[in-house]
Amino acid sequence: MSIHVTDCPRCKAQKTTFDVLAFAPVREINGYPETFYLEVPMQCRNCKQVSVIRANVSGRATFRELNDLNIHRHLLYEFLDVHVFVTLADVEASPSPEHLPLNVQNAFVEGAKCYASGCYNAAGAMFRLSLDLASKSQLPADGSGITITPRQKNYLADRLEWLFDNNHWPASLKDMVTCIRQDGNDGAHDGELGKDEAYDIMDFSFMVLEKIYTEPERIRISQERRAIRKQQSA
Ligand SMILES: [Zn+2]
Repeated sequence: MSIHVTDCPRCKAQKTTFDVLAFAPVREINGYPETFYLEVPMQCRNCKQVSVIRANVSGRATFRELNDLNIHRHLLYEFLDVHVFVTLADVEASPSPEHLPLNVQNAFVEGAKCYASGCYNAAGAMFRLSLDLASKSQLPADGSGITITPRQKNYLADRLEWLFDNNHWPASLKDMVTCIRQDGNDGAHDGELGKDEAYDIMDFSFMVLEKIYTEPERIRISQERRAIRKQQSA
């Protein structure tokens, strides 16, 4: 079985050895190459207590062979991209919408963890970042023939205006998006956000990201399923 060497969050032993107990596949992460998110329970040899660490694995083939790899490989990081331990903040944090690009999801999850820990200004700044990253992902690619100004490329307010003016984002989201941007700014620069404001930003961010990413992807998956069904019955 594989081992992993790191500091134990339970007994605080430094650079201690953990025995990997199992792999729990959690979800597929959007993007290329195919990446899967796992949680890995491990037992500390010093205190015998179990902790769960997060990890990503690239490629469907590797994902399928994890149990084999666990027998033949020695160190966890030889075949997994190992991250941090799952903590109580993860347990209490609200989940993100589905089907987000990895960088947008990471920003939202960090914001939700900050909110769950009572760090409201940090939460506001992270939700604003998730909006910033989402809006960047919607800009036309270089060479697409569509011209955008450097301000639209570099400044969130100008970029959002461009997205709404050109109907890339539905006008119904405009007020929520403006609120996330302005309140997120207040959190980052003035440290003025309380629990209620941070909750609103989290709620609005969830709804905006769901509209931009989750809904189209769910429709795409549903259409794909229908096409396969029709093909099979033809
Ligand atoms: Zn320990």
